[in-house]
Amino acid sequence: MLGGDCILCRKIGSLPQAASPDCIFEFPQSVLFLGPWQYYRGYCVLVARWHATELSQLAPQDRHAHLEEMCLAARAIEDAFRPKKMNYELLGNQVPHLHWHLVPRYADDPDFKHPIWVAIDRAKDDKSALRRLEQGSSDRAETARILRNQLAALMARRS
Ligand SMILES: [Zn+2]
Repeated sequence: MLGGDCILCRKIGSLPQAASPDCIFEFPQSVLFLGPWQYYRGYCVLVARWHATELSQLAPQDRHAHLEEMCLAARAIEDAFRPKKMNYELLGNQVPHLHWHLVPRYADDPDFKHPIWVAIDRAKDDKSALRRLEQGSSDRAETARILRNQLAALMARRS
């Protein structure tokens, strides 16, 4: 079921016609997009294809499939970029449509011990700091290409 004014429902509903360069992979239950904060190289957002606000609302088999896709996406990020740690965040306070922030964290991050939102919030009045967090040191298209290849390889091994 799609929610009327939900921005994530609209984003999912516009695929594949509006296939964005940020779309990394279309799973049966969810779609993986490259996220905005590429200081955390490989940061992605996994969006459920249907409108639900809480994991607890899903039927068990849907929840299982959704979580499996979330782990596959995280695994692709780990294999591609070898972070020190993965962060998994299912928040939805601002956009109440199931979506995971899959955030690879690296050892050279001075804010490693905190959620990324601390650094992003601190940078909100500093354009150059925000740009540094958005762009990171790698090309977005190249990061997207690497993740697509990694997921294709992972999915091929499963079939
Ligand atoms: Zn929605």
